[in-house]
Amino acid sequence: MLPSSAALLRWYDRHRRTLPWRALPGRTADPYHVWLSEIMLQQTTVAAVIPYYRRFLDLFPTVEDLARAEPDTVMAAWAGLGYYARARNLHACSRAVAAAGGFPRDMAGLLALPGVGAYTAAAIAAIAFGQPVVPVDGNVERVTSRLFALADPLPGSRKTIARHAATLNASAAARARASDFAQALFDLGAGLCTPRQPACALCPWRDSCAGLRQGIAASLPAKAPRAARPVRHGVHFLLTDASGHVLLRRRPEKGLLGGMLELPGTDWRDTPWTGSEALAFAPADADWRAAGRVSHVFTHFTLHVDIYAARVGHFPNTMARTGGMAVAHADLDMSALPSLMRKCVAAGWPATEA
Ligand code: SF4
Repeated sequence: MLPSSAALLRWYDRHRRTLPWRALPGRTADPYHVWLSEIMLQQTTVAAVIPYYRRFLDLFPTVEDLARAEPDTVMAAWAGLGYYARARNLHACSRAVAAAGGFPRDMAGLLALPGVGAYTAAAIAAIAFGQPVVPVDGNVERVTSRLFALADPLPGSRKTIARHAATLNASAAARARASDFAQALFDLGAGLCTPRQPACALCPWRDSCAGLRQGIAASLPAKAPRAARPVRHGVHFLLTDASGHVLLRRRPEKGLLGGMLELPGTDWRDTPWTGSEALAFAPADADWRAAGRVSHVFTHFTLHVDIYAARVGHFPNTMARTGGMAVAHADLDMSALPSLMRKCVAAGWPATEA
């Protein structure tokens, strides 16, 4: 038996979350707000996204403002959210939307936008344009696997869960309020059907929940055991000059942290670097001192970075030829410096001041 859409919508009308990107009851959401928040929410939690979202809207109140912005300004506003390829796609997408005079309203048009996958397209189509589609994020995946007691582990079960989720809005009540229905599913997952201890006694769908009936709800969705995350090693050099500038360079456009700034350094490889191996990559002859280690967890590996720090009167003349740039330490906050590199600067900074 499919759960009652009307019961879920009644619950949502009483308990909906107030979120900065969410339209007030009875109002239509702005597709720019929905799109921006959804891209950011792919990175981290609602609480962590809110300050970034507000800052973006202050800097770029409309999608046209974002499209006109310099890439470095967008990257700097994004810095700290991780996955910089998403920031580049975000900027490319804003340009495509501005050039077309607005967001497409249908799934096919949305899916053709840079960086917009099936989930984000469905979220925009449902929330901003009232299309009867069910966006399947982690919350909806969890609710669906429990409702239908789908016990096969993720990620293999993802397609089956999505197929069941797509049936949830079959009723006329759900289709009449497609935007609210999608957001009600998100809120049910975030508020009651939580990962560890679902509050089933309060759930508007408890009477039709097979997971609850079978006593397995809290264990779903099952997950296949993860392989251990591999470790990589790198060395980066914090070179400062007498007036407090830091030597940076830009990473290649393609690849991890593509187009972002970094301290000069070695590749990241599977084996640790010896000091003499690493110093061959130093950006200048200087009195290099080991200044600590920073660890950073990426999705597919953990990186250990050894920091070497040195101070010189002036940066080497070869700096511009090798792609280096001098950035005042006070301006680093406003630069497109990823969190990993911010940690490296913080680790090495006192050593250069000593
Ligand atoms: S009854 Fe419990 S497990 Fe089932 S959907 Fe509701 S909160 Fe989730």
